[in-house]
Amino acid sequence: MNSHQIPNEHHIKQQSLIRKLLMDRSQPGRIGAHIPQSDVPKQQQLPNKYLRKELPLPEVSESEIVRYFSQLSQFNFSIDHNFYPLGSCTMKYNPKINDEIASLPGLSEIHPLQPEESIQGALKIIFELQNLLAEITGFDSTSLAPMAGAEAELAGMLITRSFHKNNGDTHKTKILITDSAHGTNPASAVMAGFDVISIPSDKNGNTDIEALKAAINDDLAGLMLTQPSTLGLFDTNIIEICKRVKDAGGILYGDGANLNALLGRIKPGELGFDILHSNLHKTFTQPHGGGGPGAGAIMVSKKLTPYLPSPIVQYSKDEDFYSIYTPKKSIGRMGGFHGNFGALVRAYSYIKTLGKEGIDQISKNAVINANYIKSNLEEYFELPIKRICMHEVVFSASNFKKHNGIKALDISKRLIDYGIHPPTMYFPLIIDEALMIEPTETESKETLDYFISSMIKIASEAKQDPELLRNAPHNTPNSRLDEALAARKPNLRWQKKD
Ligand SMILES: *Cc1c(COP(=O)(O)O)cnc(C)c1O
Repeated sequence: MNSHQIPNEHHIKQQSLIRKLLMDRSQPGRIGAHIPQSDVPKQQQLPNKYLRKELPLPEVSESEIVRYFSQLSQFNFSIDHNFYPLGSCTMKYNPKINDEIASLPGLSEIHPLQPEESIQGALKIIFELQNLLAEITGFDSTSLAPMAGAEAELAGMLITRSFHKNNGDTHKTKILITDSAHGTNPASAVMAGFDVISIPSDKNGNTDIEALKAAINDDLAGLMLTQPSTLGLFDTNIIEICKRVKDAGGILYGDGANLNALLGRIKPGELGFDILHSNLHKTFTQPHGGGGPGAGAIMVSKKLTPYLPSPIVQYSKDEDFYSIYTPKKSIGRMGGFHGNFGALVRAYSYIKTLGKEGIDQISKNAVINANYIKSNLEEYFELPIKRICMHEVVFSASNFKKHNGIKALDISKRLIDYGIHPPTMYFPLIIDEALMIEPTETESKETLDYFISSMIKIASEAKQDPELLRNAPHNTPNSRLDEALAARKPNLRWQKKD
């Protein structure tokens, strides 16, 4: 091994050995459970053609299977293990009290078809969360129906379509999207029936105003803008963008995945956005590794309130009663029931525990942390756009690639050997060999310093011993994987060896 071994390497190797041994420990006849003699009359069996003669499962004792799954559970990486700077995903620490509250029986054991009078508390949580989010982001109203950011985008695009249709503006068929946007933006616009036109970023990472002007005409339905952008930069052209889109009768849609950078400082509704989605699982905490679970709140201005997806919770003061309703011109439902309620409870608990002061502190610390990383690493990694960043910073590994073929992927894989989750790579698409780092507000200076020193070591390893990076990670049960194959042909079950 190399000179930069990390303390838990031996431990990981040992785990890997145990895992291999367990997988191969199957012995004919060894069992972990005894089923008592049946005391009910024997029933007619399934027809023979449906019965298997052999069921090739590993035959192991209870202690072996418990060890196997306990070991397996430790191979997962999560924010509870270590630093997880996966840009744009906002992998902040999720306070455990949120989970505890969401699993209270009164909240976790209710059924979506229960009569309203028996779930007043749950409806009150949804009602108050609607109001808190509208207040925090500066909008008129909220729907908590969408179950992810992407689904909220689809809802926003369907609202945009219904709004124009209702005004007789069926010729408005075009949605403009900046070229640094997340792939879900164009996908959502197309799903809602729009044509998408990509608007380039200028050399400062802002929306290119000349290109925007050229793309705007009467068929403009709206613009989808991520503020701050996925470059981690605040688009300083926002006032002009807003004016031009509105003058042309378009809707300004805000992708609020990066709301962590703005909380308590700027309300997107006051900046001029007509719609904003918030990925509650990112900004307002919820364990969300591996693509879920999540919740995508959608906030809108007054003129779009009648179009919100149902259900919305309303409160009658006279009757002191919470009830569910569907707005007049609603685009309909996004799913079967009332959104992802568990995620909504966590967001509510998070906001209530932090209070206004705590919420205001989030963006401040998230932005300072990202800039601390930026200024400590810009000497070692190329910074394509040299500006003060917001809550995340995007470096490029293109210099390494030119020098000796080391790619962003190799740097990320080596970072795993230092016990750190890789940053987001190859996104945004407009940065060659992008490494997008988002520390979030929940990391200490010591953790950031460990990350910075690891990255500096890796930068020097890339020059002195590039093979070390190309073959990384070295300290994990599996080393370099064929990720395309793993995604297309996942090997998820034990198979008996012949
Ligand atoms: C995460 C993200 C999305 C998609 O949100 P999901 O909740 O994953 O569906 C959209 N845009 C940006 C900028 C994101 O980071």
